[in-house]
Amino acid sequence: MTERENERARENGRRLSTRAIHPGGPRGLGEPVVEPVVQSATFYGGGPDDPGPLRYSRYGTNPNQLAVAGRVADMEGMEAGLALGSGIAAISLAILSLVEAGDHVVSSLYLYGTTRLFMEEELPRRGVEVSFVDPERDGSWAAALRPRTRLLYLETPTNPTLRIFDPRGPAAVAHAADLPLVMDTTLASPVNFRAGEHGADLVVHSATKYLGGHSDLIAGVATGPAERIERIAELLRIYGPALDPHAAWLLARGLRTLDVRMERHNRNAAALARRLEAHPRVERVVYPGMPDHPDHAAAGRLLDGFGGMLGVVLRGGGAAADAFCRSLEIAAVAPSLGGVETLVSLPRLTSHRSLAPAEREAAGIPDGFVRISVGIEGFEDLEADFVGALERVEGALADAG
Ligand SMILES: *Cc1c(COP(=O)(O)O)cnc(C)c1O
Repeated sequence: MTERENERARENGRRLSTRAIHPGGPRGLGEPVVEPVVQSATFYGGGPDDPGPLRYSRYGTNPNQLAVAGRVADMEGMEAGLALGSGIAAISLAILSLVEAGDHVVSSLYLYGTTRLFMEEELPRRGVEVSFVDPERDGSWAAALRPRTRLLYLETPTNPTLRIFDPRGPAAVAHAADLPLVMDTTLASPVNFRAGEHGADLVVHSATKYLGGHSDLIAGVATGPAERIERIAELLRIYGPALDPHAAWLLARGLRTLDVRMERHNRNAAALARRLEAHPRVERVVYPGMPDHPDHAAAGRLLDGFGGMLGVVLRGGGAAADAFCRSLEIAAVAPSLGGVETLVSLPRLTSHRSLAPAEREAAGIPDGFVRISVGIEGFEDLEADFVGALERVEGALADAG
């Protein structure tokens, strides 16, 4: 979809769900209703000195890459988008597009694990320093600024404690210093949260998660002003993490049902949160839609839905969490999130395994923490699966003891 078509869709005032299905474009006699997969590495130009508009599929200009990037940009309310081969490719290249040796980045300390590795290890190796700030502390963003700060970085909702940080604070600090605020809003999807409406300048997604939605592809998307996106595209051409046309096509297919999937994710997760909270084996439920979540008010203000991610802290620590996960029959233990199927994971063994138990406890992730990516299965079946697994924890612990 071209920028002009994007604009037309927005001007039409159509809803996101409609725009995801009808992005505009040709409707001529015999045109396919669904865009074809353009499984071609290269494209004809106009002659030896005219490479033509598309050139080569590593450049992000394959028609499937362009279509899906434009569609996500439209959903985010951004001018332009770029499709990449993974979420982490979108994140790392978005950051690299803004810094050079000697520069400085200010980032929230709540980060997806690989993003943290990139910030802590890769950026310093390239001569870029990073200061991590606690978004909860008043004035922390402004206090961390240096003359060579080039960007502020914020992830929300966070993994796995689902903290919801209002972008307007860091956005104001960034814009007063003429800097961009870069945000990863993967866990919300643009159906629940569009960070550009709250001051984010670049929004990056792991499209592997909700955008694709079927756990069958790895992809990333960066959206923002055309000029900034073009700078990321330059790095895509050099570093090369291009999205395969077929994966781009699958991602476009996923986007058509994003709105209806999110509706069910939101509903199932909220209902499961309420059901689990009432169970005696459960110490605490972590869900932004629950009044006891520290960011419940912010979530209500900022989000159009509380999301499909949920944390549950079981009494009995790691042993109880392990026994619980082994006992699930519908939900499966696997990394990743945001797909139609319910998946669970244990942060103490995955994203936060490098921390000591006391550090995890301090970060709000005690060893009984189970992360749940609630899928779109029938709620009654999920309820029976989770409650049944809770009931069986007791016996499993007794057997083990
Ligand atoms: C999964 C994820 C990423 C990384 O995305 P990939 O597609 O796996 O490269 C980045 N940020 C968040 C919040 C994620 O959940």
